[in-house]
Amino acid sequence: MARSRSIVIAGAGIGGLTAALTLTRAGYRAVVLEQAARLEEAGAGIQLSPNATRVLFELGLADRLRPLVVAPEAIRIINGRSGRDIVRVPLGASAEERYGAPYWVIHRADLQAVLAAALEQSPDVTLRLATRVEDFALHQHGITVQARGADGTRDELGIALIGADGLWSAVRPSLGDRRQPTFAQRTAWRAVMPAASLPAECGAADTCLWLGRDAHLVHYPVRGGREVNIVAIVRDDWHGPGWSVPGEPAELGPRFAHFAPAARALIALPERWQKWALFDRPPRRMRSDGPVTLLGDAAHPMLPFLAQGGAMAIEDAAVLAQCLGRDDDPARALRAYEAARQRRVARVQREARQNSWRYHLSGPLAFARDTVLASLGPERLLQRYDWLYGWRV
Ligand SMILES: Cc1cc2nc3c(=O)[nH]c(=O)nc-3n(C[C@H](O)[C@H](O)[C@H](O)COP(=O)(O)OP(=O)(O)OC[C@H]3O[C@@H](n4cnc5c(N)ncnc54)[C@H](O)[C@@H]3O)c2cc1C
Repeated sequence: MARSRSIVIAGAGIGGLTAALTLTRAGYRAVVLEQAARLEEAGAGIQLSPNATRVLFELGLADRLRPLVVAPEAIRIINGRSGRDIVRVPLGASAEERYGAPYWVIHRADLQAVLAAALEQSPDVTLRLATRVEDFALHQHGITVQARGADGTRDELGIALIGADGLWSAVRPSLGDRRQPTFAQRTAWRAVMPAASLPAECGAADTCLWLGRDAHLVHYPVRGGREVNIVAIVRDDWHGPGWSVPGEPAELGPRFAHFAPAARALIALPERWQKWALFDRPPRRMRSDGPVTLLGDAAHPMLPFLAQGGAMAIEDAAVLAQCLGRDDDPARALRAYEAARQRRVARVQREARQNSWRYHLSGPLAFARDTVLASLGPERLLQRYDWLYGWRV
């Protein structure tokens, strides 16, 4: 009897969807089990740095994505208080030339729709919505995954299970880590506005990062430049559940009272905000055995201060497929995947954590930070990220 080539993926986020595509390219079938009844975007925009777009290009998605993305001309790092640029790092064509792949920004719903449409066209992928992975058992021929759907429980058989089920992963505790993610004392607030409504100083074609005391603000164009995704991150004690909790504009405004008028005007624009609490986990080597592993936020959730959580999930998917394509023994291939990812994702997690305090400095420390950034200048600043954006499988 031919050996089964089915791999079960828990979760249809950016990581799970990309993994389903990379695995089919490596000759596997993918069965994706997603607890949600329909695919919904969590968060509005996402920055896709060249290390991520390169993988998406290799999956043949460039033409489908291109009409939906914007390649920002630059990242402007702005002193929130004065409203003046600390440094402006050119992206656009120069980043594409440097890294061999573009730096794009996109609405999450658009990215998800492109990934989902590619899956639909693949005869080797089955996506089961409203199906929650609850447990799994290893046996001689692979793995049986127990999932609960609207019509009761079902068993899904495969040669391996990939837990791509996000921050609160149900697969992770079975691999020996029962600790809860750590609350980062920060909340993120998001809103999407028409690009035309932005104050002129805000530069609708750029990614802008405004740094201030205990708060920072990021905005960049989405939906081909018609809209702008705004994310405000503030120091906070609130850590309720959910990704889309309504946030009170009256609560957010005062957190930016010390920012320049253009930033305050931007914060005052949205009538509705959605907020969520930020959690992460310290870098940790997983000690899984057998044909089970984790991917994306389930493996290494990270704070959004380097805009790399989704990119790391996309990279994971590429490396996972490469390892499974090289070795017919799924358990061995998954150990090779984990080993290949360990150092890189730990470094990205650490850098993101460091930015979480760097971005929110005040007084002399903020002054020192800005002086260093300005004196580095655009070229050397970008050079410091070559290890990140220049990554290849
Ligand atoms: C404010 C903010 C801004 C960000 N900006 C960027 C950015 O610019 N660039 C970037 O690269 N990253 C960014 N990120 C990070 C990025 O959004 C995440 O890292 C990424 O979405 C993780 O993808 P994932 O597929 O691993 O997990 P998720 O997107 O969390 O997907 C997990 C999926 O699994 C499903 N699931 C959960 N449990 C089960 C179960 N038991 N059974 C079945 N299904 C299950 C969930 O419903 C969900 O669909 C940002 C994050 C935040 C908070």
